[in-house]
Amino acid sequence: MTILEVKNLKKYFPVSSGVFLRRTGWVYALDGVSFAMNKGETLGIVGESGCGKTTLGRCIMGLYEPSDGEVVIKGRRVSKLNSQQRKKLALSLQTIFQDPFESLDPRQTIKEILEEKYIIHGKKRRNLETEINRLIETVGLLPDTLSKFPHEFSGGQRQRIGIARAISLEPEIIVCDEPVSALDVSVQSKILNLLLKLQQAIGLTYLFISHDLSIVKHVSDKIAVMYLGKIIEMADANEIYENGRHPYTNALLSSIPMPDPESNRNRIILKGEVPSVENPPAGCRFNTRCEYAQNICRDKEPELLKNEKDPSHLTACHFFF
Ligand code: SF4
Repeated sequence: MTILEVKNLKKYFPVSSGVFLRRTGWVYALDGVSFAMNKGETLGIVGESGCGKTTLGRCIMGLYEPSDGEVVIKGRRVSKLNSQQRKKLALSLQTIFQDPFESLDPRQTIKEILEEKYIIHGKKRRNLETEINRLIETVGLLPDTLSKFPHEFSGGQRQRIGIARAISLEPEIIVCDEPVSALDVSVQSKILNLLLKLQQAIGLTYLFISHDLSIVKHVSDKIAVMYLGKIIEMADANEIYENGRHPYTNALLSSIPMPDPESNRNRIILKGEVPSVENPPAGCRFNTRCEYAQNICRDKEPELLKNEKDPSHLTACHFFF
């Protein structure tokens, strides 16, 4: 069952300069992104900083109003909803941030932080105390957590509190925005396993945003690779790892450390920096860094097309598809 659909989604930010702050251009942060997700699955969104993955998450969360295109949640077009309907729909959508510490009020105890979520959303619970105790146990923390303040916890424990807060109102979709990138490697796998356990127990759907393909591989059913505001490849997670086609995807894959030192996967070093999203290259946006670029790549933008043998594998490249 499709739970979330994004259709040709665009988000442009105006760029202003001068004393009168005249608009001088646009940042094309998100430029025509489309996909659909089934209930209970995880779509990993991966790419370097500036590729638009966080903007995508924020448009889905309703934190940014899209410039064009549509977000459809449980069959309802968000742009057609009034503020009351959006507020109600927002209950089914929550976020887990990179560093929950920034969003945890340092003056509140963890109990107050968790209670506040119910109060803000007008969710009355007869046994709120029992519910909060159960919540904190579900994410692997001890009951005495509730009387403490955010600064008394490690990064991993704070992320568990962030997860408890995100699942408190029983959402269906969670946008995980780099949820483990600020954590030590030893803690990362514990948090990822907790997310997977919760997904199986409650049937959550995750949009999992990360710059790290090896992390995304661990949790995702499908993966979309983004570059300069666009999806350039999308397929099942294993398919991307076994048969990545786009030269950018293959460069990202080549940077993942291999457990087998005899592995013959050679590291591909990309030349140059990611171009500005204010002035993206014409044609294929990756042409300034692609070793296979030809004239057509500078003239014509490749469409995201289905592979003939595997229609669920989409690639935007004139030559590798
Ligand atoms: Fe490289 Fe051309 Fe393919 Fe773009 S379209 S990824 S520049 S070969």
